[in-house]
Amino acid sequence: MTEQSTDFIRKIIAEDIASGAFKDGLITRFPPEPNGYLHIGHAKSICLNFGIAEENENSVCNLRFDDTNPDKENPEYVESIKDDIRWLGFDWGDRLFFASDYFEQLYQFAVRLIKMEKAFVCSLSPEEINESRGTLTEPGRESPYRSRSTEENLDLFKRMRAGEFEEGAHVLRAKIDMASPNLCLRDPVIYRIRKARHHRTGDRWCIYPLYDFAHPLSDALENISHSLCTLEFANNRPLYDWFVKQLIDPPRPRQIEFARLNLNYTVMSKRKLNQLVAENHISGWDDPRMPTIAGLRRRGVPPEAIREFCERIGVAKKDSLVDVALLEHSIRDILNQKAERRMGVLRPMKVVIDNYPEEGTEMLEAINNPENPAAGSRQVPFSKVLYIEREDFMEDPPKKFFRLAPGREVRLRYAYFIKCQEVVKNEHTGEIEELRCTYDPETRGGNAPDGRKVKATLHWVSATHAISAEVRLYDRLFNRENPGAGENKEDFRQHLNPGSLETLSPCFLEPALAEVAPEKSYQFERLGYFCLDSRDSTPSHPVFNRTVTLRDTWAKIKKKAKSPGSPA
Ligand code: ATP
Ligand code: MG
Repeated sequence: MTEQSTDFIRKIIAEDIASGAFKDGLITRFPPEPNGYLHIGHAKSICLNFGIAEENENSVCNLRFDDTNPDKENPEYVESIKDDIRWLGFDWGDRLFFASDYFEQLYQFAVRLIKMEKAFVCSLSPEEINESRGTLTEPGRESPYRSRSTEENLDLFKRMRAGEFEEGAHVLRAKIDMASPNLCLRDPVIYRIRKARHHRTGDRWCIYPLYDFAHPLSDALENISHSLCTLEFANNRPLYDWFVKQLIDPPRPRQIEFARLNLNYTVMSKRKLNQLVAENHISGWDDPRMPTIAGLRRRGVPPEAIREFCERIGVAKKDSLVDVALLEHSIRDILNQKAERRMGVLRPMKVVIDNYPEEGTEMLEAINNPENPAAGSRQVPFSKVLYIEREDFMEDPPKKFFRLAPGREVRLRYAYFIKCQEVVKNEHTGEIEELRCTYDPETRGGNAPDGRKVKATLHWVSATHAISAEVRLYDRLFNRENPGAGENKEDFRQHLNPGSLETLSPCFLEPALAEVAPEKSYQFERLGYFCLDSRDSTPSHPVFNRTVTLRDTWAKIKKKAKSPGSPA
């Protein structure tokens, strides 16, 4: 059995189904607030909600925008969220909903509560309401407006809607229990006056329902069977249940909470991500260093890798911090299987093959993906002047350096053995300008007929055929495991990694990389996975993003944890 089929939510659902409930199928929902772009944490919730719908017969998952707060929401976010969910591979079909479409129904629910004497208009100021709420050890105080007559409440609520009052003058509160040990049940505010334009309802409303009221009732209106949300809502569950119990006949939606995804070296709160964008710490919501879906996508992460990651982390009841190395591991795992191999040189060192014909060019066969024979092969041009990686040569190599050095022979991948004969330096600066080498024509394809061995195989490109590109190397955006946490409660922005972006130019890439689709990752042999940038790249100035390096730190962490005697 996979991890996915055994998490506690799927167990609950299996029991529900076994008990004979939900014969017509389940309805889940993903309820984003359109106040920012989706991040990898949202992906966990998306995979869970859409996943459960896919796994169960006749079941569906609604996409519902929880757009009850006009201040921070906008249509750009609505569109980006739809794009990102589709890109992740999920489909809500015709089940696209907006909480704002329920404003009239929610208003009528509130009117019913007033008539049931379970809601009242309170005219305390927000500060007074706060003060009278009490604490965990002390009960709250009842509002002096709690005993208003139903007629007066109905009249005031109607006039709140009509715009007769200023913001803060009145609110509508549920009448529950000011002495409840659960603070959520101490006459919570359910409507407030807010004279702001809403991205969908315009100026039609000047009162807006609060999340705790709008959410359970929106779930009920959509006949949601299982309302899955993150742990911070566990305290609100009695309130969720209270509203649906007052206003909805069974079957009623059921809220189940699961742990949110936290990743080390990452911030995930939309408020903080918003701040990074607004203050230009990064280039935007889709900056490849962002943990947003749009950022990961632009960086070259395939949607399968995000889904695989979500499956690997599973769904638990307890909050935890996931190692970002596991996300990188999932990305490598997928890309290793599906990314085609190419050659590119990021920090070029010029190599001239002295015994190769002046104008000569030949095509050599290179395998596209050793993991997938169906990917076939391609032709790579070879000629007299090449580039290799600067760090693949050392003039005075230490003992364990097996790559190119004066007098030493190495293999060029898919090509020939070459031997370094001379190091040409700039006579003023002393910097190496080029390496003069010879090649052995007998070694075409990479093997010597006399059986002689070399200790290194280098990647390379032909100078006349290469395309020149800018390459962006990304590192973690934060240099602390838990940005913003610490002794002195530092600001998370103090932990931004100043080296999170390194730009290299010109880099030289094999000509097959001239016409590639943006966001599709290729393995640059020995270097990592890279994709064409979807925003800044132009035909005359291609820009590539490094998706991930080849170094798998997660595999190392796991190996270490397994080896005997090491701490768990
Ligand atoms: P943030 O705290 O990042 O601003 P949010 O909870 O305010 O996120 P919403 O748009 O309300 O963002 O989230 C939509 C859904 O995604 C909710 O059901 C929420 O519980 C879930 N979700 C948000 N963040 C995470 C996370 N890190 N892990 C798992 N689920 C998440
Ligand atoms: Mg939220």
